[in-house]
Amino acid sequence: MKTKCDVCGHDGASIKHVSRSYGKGEDMVVIDHVPVIVCPNCGESYMTADTMQELQRLKLHRRSVKALRLAPVISYV
Ligand SMILES: [Zn+2]
Repeated sequence: MKTKCDVCGHDGASIKHVSRSYGKGEDMVVIDHVPVIVCPNCGESYMTADTMQELQRLKLHRRSVKALRLAPVISYV
């Protein structure tokens, strides 16, 4: 899936799904499948505002997720 790069304005940026971890120790949370836009033109990789917002929501939601593992993994999708 190709999209337009918000940084340099060129078409051809692609969406990559990555794992991100936040916090450390018992507070650590790993969020899987986070969509990151990678631009081969300017080399930038970034998340959209929508994605950032969703990550915030997921991080809050993590409190109600039973910690079965030291670093619980939440799926973005
Ligand atoms: Zn770019």
